[in-house]
Amino acid sequence: AKADGRGTYGVFEPEMGIAVRERHGVERDLECALARDEFHLVYQKQVAADGGALLGFEALLRWTHPERGRVPPDLFIPVAEERGTISAIGMWVLRTACREAAGWEAPLRVAVNVSAVQVHDPAFAAQVLAVLLETGLPAARLELEITETALIRNFDRAVATLRQLKTLGVGIAMDDFGTGYSSLANLRAFPFDRIKIDQSFVRNVDTNAQTAAIVRAVLGLGSGLGLPVVAEGVETPEELAFLKAAGCAEVQGYLFGRPAPLNPHETGIVPKADP
Ligand code: C2E
Ligand code: CA
Ligand code: CA
Ligand code: CA
Repeated sequence: AKADGRGTYGVFEPEMGIAVRERHGVERDLECALARDEFHLVYQKQVAADGGALLGFEALLRWTHPERGRVPPDLFIPVAEERGTISAIGMWVLRTACREAAGWEAPLRVAVNVSAVQVHDPAFAAQVLAVLLETGLPAARLELEITETALIRNFDRAVATLRQLKTLGVGIAMDDFGTGYSSLANLRAFPFDRIKIDQSFVRNVDTNAQTAAIVRAVLGLGSGLGLPVVAEGVETPEELAFLKAAGCAEVQGYLFGRPAPLNPHETGIVPKADP
């Protein structure tokens, strides 16, 4: 990862799975993808570990390229961050997720991923407020998922942005906890409402003693700080059983549903009828 002179952030390395030649194509096509309406959102359930009650959905971005087909977000988001296109794309994601969630009959929360570039834009909190007013979504139903790596680039700026968001009443989740530049100091410095344990710690938590110890420690941390913990990437009943027994409040993963376009019949989330 590097911060370059233009104030944009890059986390691209060729070994991350995209050849340099490929990358130029992706860069060029990303610029037009919004205008060509090639993005859509899918949603993944977040449920109570105990009892399975539906608590909300995480919105995840999908890009269908006319020739390449599905381009995975892990591949194009780092490119969009480096090129600065993530600002416009991120606003589209926020506006679309808030508009769709405002139409759900059940007042569930919607979690939206936010990139470092957005957090470091001094106008970001004002843009979030404008989207809430425009879509009519109550602030308390929006949660922004932010990685620690996104915060440390410009600590003071990030603290200011998160405090502004907090004032609006928007929830803030620390995403991918335990990976990257994790530091316990970040939990104290930033006004988080929730911790998301990265899926690399959830994988085999029921069979790997070291992983289990780390997850128990994170759950202890969450309970001590009064922050609910979400375990992501839960795939098996055994992983769920471990997490439940260890006191994890919320879970998300293929076991409960893959990210998918919202289908009212499947989710019970009936869109409001058009007036
Ligand atoms: P993330 O925020 O950590 O999202 C979780 C990823 O794990 C998603 O991948 C999701 O589909 C996947 N996942 C969920 N449950 C399971 C499971 O049980 N097993 C496994 N193996 N995977 C599971 P996805 O949708 O490919 O997104 C990858 C990353 O791209 C996200 O990681 C996030 O960092 C980024 N991303 C996605 N949408 C957006 C967006 O709208 N804005 C920004 N800035 N980043 C986004
Ligand atoms: Ca996330
Ligand atoms: Ca995550
Ligand atoms: Ca991630």
